[in-house]
Amino acid sequence: MDTDVSAVVEQIYQDVLQRNPGETEFHQAVREVLDSLAVVLARHREYTEMKTIERICEPERQVIFRVPWQDDRGEVWINRGFRVEFNSALGPYKGGLRFHPSVNLGIVKFLGFEQIFKNALTGMPIGGGKGGSDFDPKGRSDAEVMRFCQSFMTELYRHLGEYTDVPAGDIGVGGREIGFLFGQYKRITNRYESGVLTGKGLGWGGAQVRTEATGYGAAFFAAAMMEVRGDSFDGKRVTVSGSGNVAVYAIEKVHQLGGTVVACSDSAGYVVDEKGIDLEVLKQVKEVERARISGYADRVASARFVEGGSIWDVPCDVAIPSATQNELDADAARALVGNGCRYVVEGANMPTTPDAVRELRGGEVAFAPGKAANAGGVATSALEMQQNASRDRWTFEHSEQRLEEIMRAIHARCHETAEEYGAPGDLVLGANVAGFLQVAEAVHAHGLV
Ligand code: GLU
Repeated sequence: MDTDVSAVVEQIYQDVLQRNPGETEFHQAVREVLDSLAVVLARHREYTEMKTIERICEPERQVIFRVPWQDDRGEVWINRGFRVEFNSALGPYKGGLRFHPSVNLGIVKFLGFEQIFKNALTGMPIGGGKGGSDFDPKGRSDAEVMRFCQSFMTELYRHLGEYTDVPAGDIGVGGREIGFLFGQYKRITNRYESGVLTGKGLGWGGAQVRTEATGYGAAFFAAAMMEVRGDSFDGKRVTVSGSGNVAVYAIEKVHQLGGTVVACSDSAGYVVDEKGIDLEVLKQVKEVERARISGYADRVASARFVEGGSIWDVPCDVAIPSATQNELDADAARALVGNGCRYVVEGANMPTTPDAVRELRGGEVAFAPGKAANAGGVATSALEMQQNASRDRWTFEHSEQRLEEIMRAIHARCHETAEEYGAPGDLVLGANVAGFLQVAEAVHAHGLV
């Protein structure tokens, strides 16, 4: 590689480190994208001159706010709210809200940065953003969650709008929370602005398949990846970490496509069920009872619960990490390679550490980065916005068909871009370059903004 462009890229990274001290996940996400971009700069000198990468690495706007609320006993709590409006070159800022005690500015920026390229890859007109709070919904009553959401939206609403910034869910934010947030937005603004949030209930502006979309999309992406390698899900053993919204629907679609998911997990441990995870029981435990995954093993005779430990020790052909960032480390990657795993497809955002990605590559495992493989969620959010704008409703079948087309198109684009830039089969490079080019072209066209 041209040392000149490599040096430019390295300098950009050093500047990001310096300007954003302590934000390790954000640094990691930027590094991962920059590692793919020297080939782009070698072909596009204008992006160096106009500091296009530097501009994309700097959020357009970052909002941090206080969220006071009262629990059921009357105790006052103060949480911190965030919204990082990262890039609007392709459309209104779009990205989820995460409610989890680990949320801080660095995490929100990493997620927002990833979201820019992910959203570009969908081919839909959406920019990138992310938000959330360090609020922990675990163990909180519905009334407490509602009061928190109302307080959160009382500040956030002024930054939102269907043409400005459109949040959705992420970890800790599902249909219940979107309902409370939408209700408060509507009350404050006195506008029934359906397109201001996605992931809404089906009866009030929500879209079919939005709930299932991220998990289904990851499975569709995996299927497309296998197809170009002359392979399929037929008879494959699959491990899906997590047991939240992404995991549950990835499991459902993998089963429909002919694979068998033998293990899933939560933060306390994992369950192995050689007969294949029974989705009805899993949904009952995780979605209805909001209980621990060990409850699955209590109910299903063929299952066992392993407390703690690593789900990646379970032998599988396909691994779909769908829990959270950096959950699959180098040791886990070595275990997967050692047990003959052939595909790793990221259902979550950046679940695989950089060291683990290197191990997987060395072990000849085909790897799909989350910004491509889990884009089905936000793509279906864009379909929800489309239905809201035209005051229309699509059927489940039509929506699922659109999702599958989009996921196949994303795969094809990443695959072809990797070939075009001299790295056949490298979906990380393909996703980063294809996503970046789409955003950079628009940023460049808009002048120095
Ligand atoms: N939180 C999801 C993601 O990481 C969905 C975002 C959205 O639908 O706006 O892509």
